[in-house]
Amino acid sequence: MLEIKNLTKILGDKLILRNVSLTLGKGEILAVVGPNGAGKSTFFKCTVGLLQPSGGEIILDGNLVKKKSAIARKKIGFLGHESFLYNNLSPLENLQFYGKLYKVKNLEERMKELLKEVGLYLFKDVPIRSFSRGMMQRLAIARVLLAEPDILMLDEPHTGLDQEAVQLLNKIIIDKKNSGTSILIISHDFEQVHKLADRVAVLKKGKIVETRELAESMDLYGMKEWYEKVVSEG
Ligand code: ADP
Ligand code: MG
Ligand code: MG
Repeated sequence: MLEIKNLTKILGDKLILRNVSLTLGKGEILAVVGPNGAGKSTFFKCTVGLLQPSGGEIILDGNLVKKKSAIARKKIGFLGHESFLYNNLSPLENLQFYGKLYKVKNLEERMKELLKEVGLYLFKDVPIRSFSRGMMQRLAIARVLLAEPDILMLDEPHTGLDQEAVQLLNKIIIDKKNSGTSILIISHDFEQVHKLADRVAVLKKGKIVETRELAESMDLYGMKEWYEKVVSEG
């Protein structure tokens, strides 16, 4: 449903992305992994429309995505390094604000559902400035899910989370996948994402150097060895 073809990006005089091509199917979790500086965040920003690509195409359900396309923006929910949340507001107030912006139907009901889903219902009226990074991240995800995106794109969503928050986040990701959402998850930490993903693509120096289907039966050591080898070669 999402096809990225020959995406390139030049920043300054550097070629940061070199013909990156990837597809993301319905209900699939694709992990894009690679070392620091590989171009992952640049790829993320170009794909979600935060940066204008220098070349290439993004095709959503057979239609070419133009810059600032409202349909694409509604279909693709994304979470990068910025949460876009308001510290002086409560979870409920934050969701109310974005719910109105996205013109969400049955907003009251939807907010209640979402806050339960991300485990923040009991804190719904508390200003979020005192929240832990894990709680913030769960609310940030709830905000993205308000618009019921078909595709979810996450750039390093596990960063700064403790083990319990990681598990909660992973549960939300798996639940969304099981209800048909397509998810692209970007990480520098192979171990963090290999259990979640159906497929992994390795981005190195702006290029996809390998992609691989992952099976649940695969042993972690073999997988890690493979990844380390791909990253260290060349
Ligand atoms: P990653 O997310 O994989 O760590 P980034 O996409 O953040 O990688 O960065 C990829 C490369 O692009 C890095 O070498 C970085 O220094 C460079 N870069 C990022 N932003 C800019 C910019 N605005 N101008 C010039 N170079 C940039
Ligand atoms: Mg980086
Ligand atoms: Mg990054």
